[in-house]
Amino acid sequence: MFEVKLVVQVRLLPTPEQAAALATTLRAANDAATWVSMLAHHRRVFRNYDLRKHTYGQIKDDYKLAAQAAQHVIKKVTDAYATLHANVRHGNLGRPGSARRERVLAEPIVFRPGAAQPFDDRCLSWQMDARTVSIWTTGGRMKSVAFTASADQLTTLSAYRKGESDLLYRDGMWFLIATCEIPDRPVATPDGFLGVDLGIANLATTSGGVRHSGKGLNAVRHRHRELRRRLQAKQTKSAKRLLKRRRRAEARFAANTNHTIAKRIVTEATRTGQGIALEDLQGIRDRVRLRKPQRVTLHSWSFHQLGGFIAYKAAREGVAVVHVDPAYTSQACSSCGHVDKRNRPGQATFSCTSCGFAEHADVNAARNIASRGVAGWAVSHAADDAA
Ligand SMILES: [Zn+2]
Repeated sequence: MFEVKLVVQVRLLPTPEQAAALATTLRAANDAATWVSMLAHHRRVFRNYDLRKHTYGQIKDDYKLAAQAAQHVIKKVTDAYATLHANVRHGNLGRPGSARRERVLAEPIVFRPGAAQPFDDRCLSWQMDARTVSIWTTGGRMKSVAFTASADQLTTLSAYRKGESDLLYRDGMWFLIATCEIPDRPVATPDGFLGVDLGIANLATTSGGVRHSGKGLNAVRHRHRELRRRLQAKQTKSAKRLLKRRRRAEARFAANTNHTIAKRIVTEATRTGQGIALEDLQGIRDRVRLRKPQRVTLHSWSFHQLGGFIAYKAAREGVAVVHVDPAYTSQACSSCGHVDKRNRPGQATFSCTSCGFAEHADVNAARNIASRGVAGWAVSHAADDAA
């Protein structure tokens, strides 16, 4: 049986006293990590076991960290260097001797005061009914720290949360990021396929005729672009900080939108007993013809996220998912199969020059994706039968 791993991010709502204790604790852990990192860098000691010998006692004494927290600090540092060294090996930081690579390797890794710190079940416990956590701090165990989560997140957390959660501070907010392991349900044999067409005016359109508008998200993106244009003129530190915060806010808004759409699409599929056919996104760059490269990147990133959300929600519900080749789905008639550029007299309309079939352009494309899903499923299961 497969397992889907995903993270659930919940926002903590600490009282001012609780927030102060969290801040002191997180700062202590990250100060300790920076100190361990400097020692590792200068003595060229990067293995957990060796580093522990040199630092464990002092972390506990100097930074007032408990045994588990001290171990997590050491592991965090060794993980960070392992990632850095892997990046160097793979040439991600440039060739040997390149300025960038030398600059990165010359200095030890530094941890921000609010950087993520893992808490395991001995240091953090969840009271789901009360929506609170109890968490270890440098000032002792702190109970009843409130958090907010959607009903969906609460269900996932109660049933599947496993292992460590990361505490972090970002944009003036406290977050816990919990890891959940969800067992796959066996996939039911679908009764046809629900095709999903991805786009910009409509973020997603199903072959059932449901259109998920991109109006809200596009408005946020537009406002953000305007703001960026104004702020980029001034190169001040506060302008840069504001931009960074807005970028994250936009990413959160996009993720929320994608979650909602994914949920509705999976619900539509389960209600009708259909599988879900998604476009294979390899070719998305060719299909979304936009002039500005960064907009292509933005949208293709968002499409991948939406596709990922649909895939894992479908897996959770036992809904079959197939990926299909999206070539010509917008120009082909979903009724007779005739392919012609002139089938698309306008951005939103499809009208077949051969058989006269007319439909919203995105719905027509989704219907093509649906029938390719049926064909794709038949082929892959014929192969199963033959094997
Ligand atoms: Zn036709």
